[in-house]
Order: sequence, then structure tokens, then C-alpha cells
Amino acid sequence: MALEIKENMLLAPYTIYKIGGPARFFAEAASGDDIRYALEFATNRALPFVIMGAGSNMLVSDGGFDGVAIRINGGEVRVDPPADGERLVCDAGVMMARAVLAAAKAGFGGFEWGIGVPGTIGGSVRGNAGCFGGEMRDVLESAEIFDVSQNSKFKIQNSECSFGYRDSIFKKHPEWIILSATLRLKSGDADAIQQEVQRITMERLGKQDIGTKCCGCIFKNTAWEREDTDREKLTMQFPELAAFVNQSHIPTSFLLDRAGLKGTRMGSAVISPKHANFFINEGTASAEDVRKLIERAKEEVHKKFGVLIEEEIQYVGF
Ligand SMILES: Cc1cc2nc3c(=O)[nH]c(=O)nc-3n(C[C@H](O)[C@H](O)[C@H](O)COP(=O)(O)OP(=O)(O)OC[C@H]3O[C@@H](n4cnc5c(N)ncnc54)[C@H](O)[C@@H]3O)c2cc1C
Repeated sequence: MALEIKENMLLAPYTIYKIGGPARFFAEAASGDDIRYALEFATNRALPFVIMGAGSNMLVSDGGFDGVAIRINGGEVRVDPPADGERLVCDAGVMMARAVLAAAKAGFGGFEWGIGVPGTIGGSVRGNAGCFGGEMRDVLESAEIFDVSQNSKFKIQNSECSFGYRDSIFKKHPEWIILSATLRLKSGDADAIQQEVQRITMERLGKQDIGTKCCGCIFKNTAWEREDTDREKLTMQFPELAAFVNQSHIPTSFLLDRAGLKGTRMGSAVISPKHANFFINEGTASAEDVRKLIERAKEEVHKKFGVLIEEEIQYVGF
């Protein structure tokens, strides 16, 4: 059966923020064939498209998206027979938690940290998502890509993905759609792996606003070694930053906190009192409220530290 393409669909329900206006066209696709069909629908009509995963790292404008929104959701997780190493093959729309639990069940370790990322495999490869000391570049072996500009598929190896902190080659190639990913994991004790997954879940519950309408960290952590983050100059002026000199980045939540931003609000969008890099929709916040809060936070951090912080979230329809 041909994939159903709906018209004029509100995107808010498909984002964790529950914010965003309608897409002119909307399709939900799990398989590679359906994804290609939806992309062809867009190209045949010369319409722009946007790919959505779980919508856990995006802010959709109040005006929505004047094109085709393709939500990649669901699909298969397959444990490859360990002839030569332990592999998990996941379709792009598989949620990270589902993949982590499948790995744990199979006794594959090294991916426990992924339980902390409420997104899909596809979105997480693109953003090189990570937490608790792990990131996608540590576990990805290869990914299957559909190149919209060439109308063809290809396989990309980890070494070709130009992974960096919350960065990858896919951010420079919006025409490359991730269809599936093969993760290379390590054999371990299934019970110990499951316990580690639980430990991480509990720790996360204590520190973050889980279950609220937000999209994780709004801003990336801030790399040292930029023009505006000279270690020596900054730590002389702000001795409290010395605690981070041996790390590659300054936690942006620290900068936001010290700029006094916790609890700041714009309409019904508020900076979490628990974690200053989480901006929460208390119920009826608009994308405009969140955007204004982001601008305010950037200004205040710049005023206090002279540092320009950069968004991690992806804007759609702005
Ligand atoms: C409570 C909470 C906690 C979070 N904690 C973390 C954390 O600890 N670490 C972390 O890194 N992130 C975290 N995040 C952010 C988010 O979960 C990750 O960035 C996640 O990887 C995004 O995946 P997604 O499927 O939701 O992508 P979406 O938000 O749907 O999309 C993000 C971007 O990826 C693109 N995209 C999605 N799927 C594909 C695909 N198949 N092919 C090509 N492009 C695609 C989209 O077009 C968009 O530009 C958190 C979010 C929340 C709400």
C-alpha cells in the first residue's frame, strides 16, 4: 500500500516540546522504501522537505513548515550473529532506548549510556548524540544513507562521518538521509549491562527534567580554544571557570546558571530551576517564547562572560 501523505498536519504533537505549527504535507515512514517514497513526493513537487525523528532536539516555528515533513519512526532492530564481533543493526526510526535494551538483552555492552537520549538512532547519529561518557561515534560502525540529490543509496563508514562534539558530516549534507545504522558493540555480562542501564536511568532522573516538555540541552557545551574562550584570560577574570580547564569544554549550563538565568521566563517558557540548559514549555509556550528566551540567555551569558554560546537544537520553519 502506498504511504499515506496527509495535508496540513500540526507538527507540535510530533515534537517533545509540543510546539510548532502545521506542515503542508506530512508522512510517517519506517522503512527505507517509505522514506524514499515520501522524499520523491517532495522532489516531484519541488517542495522542501524536513526529516523528523522523535522531535527531541528541534524547535518548530509557530508558522509550521511549508513543505513535506517526513517523520522517521519505528522499524527493526536486528542482532547480527556474532561471527565477527557483536553488531546491532537498527533502522533509523528506532528509539535509542529500544536499541539499548536490545543490546543489553543480547549481552552487548558499550551502549548503556544511550538510554539517556530520548531520540531515534537516525537523529542521534546525525547529531553524534552522547552522554555519560559515550557518544554515537564510539559505537557506530557504518550507516546506510539515501542521497536525495543522486536518488541513490550508499554506505558510509564511521571514519568517513567526520564526527565531532554534537557534530557530523550529515549536518553539512541535509540531502543525506540516514536509513539505518550498524552498531559495533562489545560482548559482556547481560546482568551487569542491564544494571548499568538502570544506574544511568536513575542518575538522569535525579539531574534532569525527564518527562517535561523540553528538548534536552538548548545549547552545546562551549569549547575552550575559541577566540572568546581564552583559558588564561577567562579564568583570571572568572576563577570559578578554573574547575573546567582540564576539560575540552565549559559546561554551558554552568555559564547559564552563573549568569543568573535559572527560572527566567518568557510567556510559558521557563529556564529549568534544576538544569539551566533545559528550557521548559510549561504548557502553552509558543516557539516565539522559546526563541526569545534563547536570545535573552545568549545576551546575558555574553554580557557576563563575553562568550557567545551556540544552539544545539535544530530550528525548523524559521
Ligand atoms: C529530556 C531530554 C534529554 C536529552 N538528553 C540528551 C543527551 O544526554 N545527549 C544528547 O546528545 N542529546 C540529548 N537530548 C537531545 C536529543 O534527544 C538528541 O539530540 C537526539 O539524538 C535527537 O534525536 P531525534 O530523533 O529526536 O531527532 P530530531 O529532534 O527529530 O531531529 C534532530 C535533527 O536530526 C535530523 N534527523 C533526524 N533523523 C534523521 C535521519 N534519519 N537522517 C538525517 N537527519 C535526521 C532532523 O532533520 C533534525 O535536523 C535530550 C533531549 C531531551 C528531550
